[in-house]
Amino acid sequence: MEAALKAQNSTALPNHGEGTVVAGLPMPRFNRILVEPITGACGAEIAGVDLRQPLDDETRQEIMKAFEHFLVIVFRNQDLTIDQHKAFSDLFGPRMELPQAPTYGGQNDMQEVRREAFEPSTVVPSFEHFHTDSPFLEEPPKCIVMRALEVPKFGGDTAFSNGYMVYESLSEGLRKLLDGLDVVYSGRDIWERNERLPPEKRLRLRETHGFSEHELENIHPAVRIHPETGRKALFATTSYFRRFVGWNDEDSRALVNYLQSLAQHLHFHCRVKWKKDTLIVWDNRFLLHRGVHDYRMERRHLIRTTVRGERPLGPRDLASLGLSAEKETQTP
Ligand code: MN
Repeated sequence: MEAALKAQNSTALPNHGEGTVVAGLPMPRFNRILVEPITGACGAEIAGVDLRQPLDDETRQEIMKAFEHFLVIVFRNQDLTIDQHKAFSDLFGPRMELPQAPTYGGQNDMQEVRREAFEPSTVVPSFEHFHTDSPFLEEPPKCIVMRALEVPKFGGDTAFSNGYMVYESLSEGLRKLLDGLDVVYSGRDIWERNERLPPEKRLRLRETHGFSEHELENIHPAVRIHPETGRKALFATTSYFRRFVGWNDEDSRALVNYLQSLAQHLHFHCRVKWKKDTLIVWDNRFLLHRGVHDYRMERRHLIRTTVRGERPLGPRDLASLGLSAEKETQTP
């Protein structure tokens, strides 16, 4: 880290892997921040920036470029106040509330993930899979800005899977089928389902919120496109999934389980080990994530803001966005 910060002050920053392909696209050039890719599939560690300070335009633009390219960006040793956390989060877009996630510090626009050392693991099976947060909302989150307050000595990592790469790995026939499919996502029964679990298995959910029943269920495309590049990513996964529109439950479940199994492949992944004051921003549109609940008898406490995204756009929106067929696939 020290060497990295020293390098920041010299005129020539090392550009790791420039000219190579990483996260499915050629490695961009960075002048103001140090960017070290985590794997070939997604994720980068960023050094040479103090998020407590206001950032100049060029640094901000490079952080956004790294976020768009790697989908997961990791900053270490960022001892931020709540206000500094929110200010950094606001660079990515407006903060939003989540109806189901417990809030932090009595603030509706901050959430927490907390497990006390004495508590058993209470993760519902669908969150033991790669998922996207709150896809049932009309405008699901664009990204999550999460910071670690307290973490286990070992374990409790977060893992990520690149949804663009999952989609690009499919055969042409399956891509065509998925391009025309829509998914019903619903969060209407989260509380009801939790109530049915034995008390020790229940999730810590937010008790009250201002969302209506109607807002907790929406139909979205199974393949999501980036609003500027038109690049396509898989957006059909098992959490909150009800069915594909026009398909029965059995057929729907068979296909979504198959797609979910593809997201498990290691060559789409990166995995980040948390330390106190690690801050991670991850994309919630074109990337799947999951906690790794492999620790016991230790406290894990993470706090986050959630940034609102656009209504998910699908392949049928490409024409109205003025994106041409050649531009629509950026696969090298
Ligand atoms: Mn999640």
